[in-house]
Amino acid sequence: MSNTDKEIHILPDVIANQIAAGEVVQRPESVVKELVENSLDAGASEIIVIVRGAGKQLLHVIDNGKGMSRADIELAPQRHATSKITTAEDLARITTLGFRGEALASICSVAQVEIRTRRHHDEHGWRLLSEPLQPPIIEPCSMQPGTHILVRNLFYNVPARRKFLRSDLTEFRHIADTMMRLALSRPDVRFVLYDDDTLQYDLAATSLYQRIADIFGRHFAETLMRVDHAEPLAHGSELRITGYIGQPQFAKRSKSEQFLTMNGRVISSRQISHAVISAYEHLLDQSNYPPFILNIALDPERVDVNIHPQKHEVKFDDDRTIYTAVRRAVAGTLSLHNLAPSVQFDTANTQAPQHDHVHERIVLSSRRFEQHDMHRASPSFSYRQQSPIFFHPLRPSVHEQSTAHFKDGTLLEQGTSTQALFKTTNIPSMHSIEQQTVSSAQSLASTPLWQLHAKYIVMSTADGIALIDQHAAHERILYERALKAMNEGWNYGQDLLFPIHIHLPHHDRALLQELLDDIRRLGFDVLPTPEGAEIRSVPADVRTGQEEESLRDLLEQYRSLSEVRHTSIRDNLAASFGCRAAIRSGDSLTLEEMQRLVHDLYTTHMPYTCPHGRPIILEISLEELDRRFGRSS
Ligand code: ADP
Ligand code: MG
Repeated sequence: MSNTDKEIHILPDVIANQIAAGEVVQRPESVVKELVENSLDAGASEIIVIVRGAGKQLLHVIDNGKGMSRADIELAPQRHATSKITTAEDLARITTLGFRGEALASICSVAQVEIRTRRHHDEHGWRLLSEPLQPPIIEPCSMQPGTHILVRNLFYNVPARRKFLRSDLTEFRHIADTMMRLALSRPDVRFVLYDDDTLQYDLAATSLYQRIADIFGRHFAETLMRVDHAEPLAHGSELRITGYIGQPQFAKRSKSEQFLTMNGRVISSRQISHAVISAYEHLLDQSNYPPFILNIALDPERVDVNIHPQKHEVKFDDDRTIYTAVRRAVAGTLSLHNLAPSVQFDTANTQAPQHDHVHERIVLSSRRFEQHDMHRASPSFSYRQQSPIFFHPLRPSVHEQSTAHFKDGTLLEQGTSTQALFKTTNIPSMHSIEQQTVSSAQSLASTPLWQLHAKYIVMSTADGIALIDQHAAHERILYERALKAMNEGWNYGQDLLFPIHIHLPHHDRALLQELLDDIRRLGFDVLPTPEGAEIRSVPADVRTGQEEESLRDLLEQYRSLSEVRHTSIRDNLAASFGCRAAIRSGDSLTLEEMQRLVHDLYTTHMPYTCPHGRPIILEISLEELDRRFGRSS
């Protein structure tokens, strides 16, 4: 056999490392992530990141972690060199962020790297200089305990990769994004970021809530609701979901405020994000994404983190259980808050008189709301629309028992009777904080209502005025009724004097068959026929004259809704029915109709948002009006 028969050969280390680097180190941001993860694994409580030239010139990470010995600094840049796992069993229960022993080797193969490190009990540190294809230089150095890693001229020896880097702005944005995720994953660690010589931020070690406030601002944090949910998993371990979620009205068009960690590791998971969003169901428009910052804590044996070179995807042992648990956690928080805002009574900042508890609360809530106002374009309405203080008097007596108080997004107390909070007066006075109690239909009858442009109902309230979107309000009412009819089986149908025959296209006939059971429960007594259907009864809320279209409309709406909403058949049917059967903008209403609508709205579970997530009620308080008229109240 001649030598030319041997085509296969083992690649030299440096090339093998460069190939591995292709997976681990894709851009400066990946280097930052790997180095900061190493610092966290080393137990650092402070991490400083200095970026120059968007990381292409220099990335410098400084930590006060445990440092390395002379022997370890020599091994660290070698492939598969790690202190974090030893055996195959260790791989099945990883508790550190790193474990592959590849990052430093990969980085050293595509950049000039300097490592300076000193353990706390060592007298001096060690410095290693590494350059691809050169033997490393190691020498003693003087330094504080901890580790510095300097990565210079990233990809200087891999021009193809360097060419693929984006503009400095884009590369820096990736770095900043990753830093933010890491900072949210470990609020107990101080994070400092410099871009060239400019300090971007210095985040002190703190609670998660305060870290969120430090990054996104206090006003954002104040709109969050706390999640803390635990449930048992098979094998006796526990799953715990903690963090914060946003109120639906602060949802964004983008997913930029969604952060997920698993046992403190920044991860991305479409499944879990979907679980969160699905818990918001009809509170959100499908193109809106709620903010969330959540951590899933579970036994490391129940999850495989070794499925992705950059380790940000994970595989759960039992992903269905996790999915439903996350959904439950979020839904639980939403219902606990009854979608009320996280009202925070910041006693430290108040000059309000202390003599009256009620007085204080209301004054404070409007103060807070004005501050809020300055930071958002049209916020006051969306904030106030859900004030439990405003709505309680109108809600049915069962709800009157639950007044929740929140601080830092945490439920402080619950169950104060509204009787104690609201005093009855017949005439709402301009400056009085006393609330008019409108707890029954009679008082509603004496509340002034009128219709604006055949679109909105204007209602005078104890605290100002409220505007109700008549279509959205009716939609919410019908949606809940339809759902109830289907789930509880009460007869919502109304018989027609003469059955109606309608023609349905083929695909609608198939859909009708598929949904027949639930459509019947909804109150449509329909009989499929070869050319369409015979309708014998329709839900009581179908408007006179609309009987014929009602079923066709329902099927059509269901078809388009079910494409974008992944909820249950009944949910989608109820939402479709509500949407099509509701009164529209442009329909004029009598006083009785308006009274009924307002009354029915307040007996729904969620009078604040329509099934598509749009607001139903906006309130303008007297304080707001006074402010706009330049009067000081
Ligand atoms: P991994 O993190 O997967 O173990 P790395 O290549 O990222 O692999 O790092 C190799 C080893 O170098 C680590 O296991 C750790 O022992 C050591 N190391 C790296 N960075 C630091 C640091 N900042 N402080 C202390 N030790 C470090
Ligand atoms: Mg590592």
